[in-house]
Amino acid sequence: MLSFYSTKKQIENVSLKDAVLQGLAVDSGLFMPSKISSIEPLFFDRIFSLSLPEIAFIVSKHLLNNAIPADDLKKIIDVSMTIDAPLIKLSEEMYVLELFHGPTLSFKDFGARFMARLMEYFNRNENNDLHILAATSGDTGSAVAHGFFNIPGIKVWILYPKGQVSYIQEKQLTTIGHNVTALEVDGTFDDCQSLVKQAFSDRELCKKMRLTSANSINIARLIPQSFYYFFAYAQLGKCTDPIVVSVPCGNFGNLTAGLLSKKMGLPIDRFIAATNINDSVPRYLRTGNFDPHISRKTLSNAMDVGNPSNFARILDLYNEDLKKIQKDIYGISITDFQMKDAISELRRKYQYIADPHGAIAYLGLKDYQQRRPKSKGIFLETAHPAKFLETVEPLIGEKLDMPESLKSAVTKNKESFQINSNYNELKAVFLS
Ligand SMILES: *Cc1c(COP(=O)(O)O)cnc(C)c1O
Repeated sequence: MLSFYSTKKQIENVSLKDAVLQGLAVDSGLFMPSKISSIEPLFFDRIFSLSLPEIAFIVSKHLLNNAIPADDLKKIIDVSMTIDAPLIKLSEEMYVLELFHGPTLSFKDFGARFMARLMEYFNRNENNDLHILAATSGDTGSAVAHGFFNIPGIKVWILYPKGQVSYIQEKQLTTIGHNVTALEVDGTFDDCQSLVKQAFSDRELCKKMRLTSANSINIARLIPQSFYYFFAYAQLGKCTDPIVVSVPCGNFGNLTAGLLSKKMGLPIDRFIAATNINDSVPRYLRTGNFDPHISRKTLSNAMDVGNPSNFARILDLYNEDLKKIQKDIYGISITDFQMKDAISELRRKYQYIADPHGAIAYLGLKDYQQRRPKSKGIFLETAHPAKFLETVEPLIGEKLDMPESLKSAVTKNKESFQINSNYNELKAVFLS
């Protein structure tokens, strides 16, 4: 049966259940599957006619290797992987994979829904509540909260940086209620992440509350994100040109999931790690030196991450071999100014309306294809443009329709709990 090791390698391997419920390993490492092997070639011959849930079942059954009985796994997939992920053709060499058709209109719905169902499954025989802690730079919080909404025996705490998420994102985070509490932190996203980490390493707290995480550090979020790379390939159809996929990166969970899919045999030639000016990884790819900076605020705020946690997983996947990492990943960093131009250009050239994050992925792909023609490129559109109205509307010169789920969030009243970035304050809230 499959087990999971910590990237810090200070602990024994654990089961899928423990990896999912612990979130972060006790040595502060991130969990990774002990074995990631190629799926049999036959699968890639018949993938072209399969649906996303069918692909998800085959991929997860292969990767998880009986860690969950097949019938139970199938049920989890069938209730969580019901989101569409259409591949849209912009030109002969450029496609966009739309990942924003879930309930909170970002790609994070895929990971959050699968993780919520997996936790519900593993928590089914417990007496005490399970508390989910999630730091969010924008979209994680609402996706996680939505995924867990009304799941019995689970309480959710969302930490977000005050004043650093968009109006609509904040509404989505703070209007859910029931088993979900929004904590508005006077600090940055990195502060929120650090608070979550401190809570997990607080033995006293962990004795009183069963805690687990729900950021992209949880392996249960990562695994389902690999499914849609396979589904993109299936929709592209048989092709002989090398396939490159451009991923807008913040915490690097999405890209890591893409690397997992490649390790499972998906024929993707190369990934493009497209960041905003928070460029720790593109700088690493250039210099071999990982020198994270404090995060800086941009218009693609879900990617404002100074020190991406999943970088540890990427290093680990490649045994820290820079040459091998460079072979698979091309890095690029994009300014707000360039991103805005890209939104206008996409509208003008392709009649496509992108959000700031997708626009960054587009520029990464465009830059790459100018240097290396003859590739089939896919860029990931990770959020619905209406989530970023303030940025997108002036650039395209038209009003965007607001999807129903956003309309209903906007009409509700914000409810949040304000705390500063001092850990004792967070702890007091938990213990009260
Ligand atoms: C979270 C997020 C990203 C960054 O994804 P990571 O997995 O953290 O790299 C990109 N775009 C949007 C819209 C997001 O919400």
